[in-house]
Amino acid sequence: MTKIRTRYAPSPTGKMHVGNLRSALYEFLIAKHENGDFMLRIEDTDQERFVEGATEIIYRTLEKTGLIHDEGPDKDGGYGPYVQSERMKTGIYMKYAKELIDKGEAYYCFCDKERLASLKTEIVEGKEIMIYDKHCLSLSKEEIEANLAAGKPYVIRQNNPTEGTTTFHDELYGDITVNNSELDDMILIKSDGYPTYNFANVVDDHTMNITHVVRGNEYLSSSPKYVRLYDAFGWEVPVYVHLPLITDENHKKLSKRSGHASFEDLIEQGFLTEAVVNYIALLGWSPEDNREIFSLEELKKEFDYHRISKSPAVFDIVKLKWMNGEYLKAMDFDKFYELAKPYLVEALGENFDLKKIAAMVKTRIEVFPDIAGQVDFFKKLPEYDPAMYAHKKMKTDKTSSLKVLEDLLPILEAQDDYSNDALYQTLLAYVEKEGVKNGYVMWPVRTAVSGKQMTPAGATEIMEILGKEESIARIRKGIELLKAE
Ligand code: GLU
Repeated sequence: MTKIRTRYAPSPTGKMHVGNLRSALYEFLIAKHENGDFMLRIEDTDQERFVEGATEIIYRTLEKTGLIHDEGPDKDGGYGPYVQSERMKTGIYMKYAKELIDKGEAYYCFCDKERLASLKTEIVEGKEIMIYDKHCLSLSKEEIEANLAAGKPYVIRQNNPTEGTTTFHDELYGDITVNNSELDDMILIKSDGYPTYNFANVVDDHTMNITHVVRGNEYLSSSPKYVRLYDAFGWEVPVYVHLPLITDENHKKLSKRSGHASFEDLIEQGFLTEAVVNYIALLGWSPEDNREIFSLEELKKEFDYHRISKSPAVFDIVKLKWMNGEYLKAMDFDKFYELAKPYLVEALGENFDLKKIAAMVKTRIEVFPDIAGQVDFFKKLPEYDPAMYAHKKMKTDKTSSLKVLEDLLPILEAQDDYSNDALYQTLLAYVEKEGVKNGYVMWPVRTAVSGKQMTPAGATEIMEILGKEESIARIRKGIELLKAE
């Protein structure tokens, strides 16, 4: 069996979008599932779209996500160069373009801008497309040679038939047949000498022995033209997997406006790399069972590309948050603390036992930025409505709460051990003495010391963190509020 070889072939045009990362991940997984090779190829032939620094983002992201390539510009595997602008300098694209010209499958085109602008256009998938009228196909050999000798600018175009059909196979979409009359004579080599993506992807995938190509389904409509190129050369067509569009919650194409379109955006918003990778794996793929949590290692084992779905994948930030929370829960505490600490410091400064607070919130947050909302009451007692003291289930009301706080105040003032255990024993003793339920006492105390209905910990744990002075001040404040009612 031939070794599986896949490639991630990004154009360095900016941030790494979720869709790009999904292609990279699936390419990686298809290869690694079968012990194959995963290659990185930089497609920088479109000089106008090139963005400074974008290549670095690609390297950084692949490394961070663990999608480690076996070959690439920085790791020679014998198929280099791995950057298209460097490949161009070897003359490879021109050599193959000329081979197609010799076979009658391509031709020189010397038409200038004005002539091209005068040609008919058609609307294809919402875009205005110029259909080239094969004018230069009829040039004689002598005319072509004279033009070339005179240094007249030219492009090289694919010569597609105007009759018949072309069929190709995609793993998700099955066999697709198109009328050749719909295939425009696309440019293979541009006037600046660079190949187009349309040509370079075919030459490179073949010469680099790529067996499986995963890419967005925006390339589906061009694929018949690629297949015609493979056929013209007599090359084997790789397995094509054209992935469905990723949409936002409103079923619109995921875009910058959605706010979470790129890997960097998500990391900035406090998501964990592992959770993002896990979530992206499920944007179009699912295992046989309903399992959802997968490490990259597990994905390598489980990923069967035949189970990719062609229905649009909805990027659901709520689901990603849930998943991120699951990763936080499962995380080793020391690692959690290390990552959570900057958020804790930002919310509370350094004057609290941040480690204890981290342990309180670990299972209660979905993303690190949730921390502030969970812990801000430690720093400052929020304004709160005394109505909060009344709790049906705990059988408390404002009057009972006032009595509990007033009874406990002198006891808590007399106590110096403000450890959670000691405080708990004190409250418990009061509970027993009064013959009431725990909540009847804990609820008003927790309300007084936190000013919140929901807290990441119980009354005495909170008091331990606050210390005696602040706890007493807050209980006094509670009494004052309740008395004023
Ligand atoms: N350079 C193309 C892009 O970034 C890659 C498409 C492909 O994977 O073939 O969209």
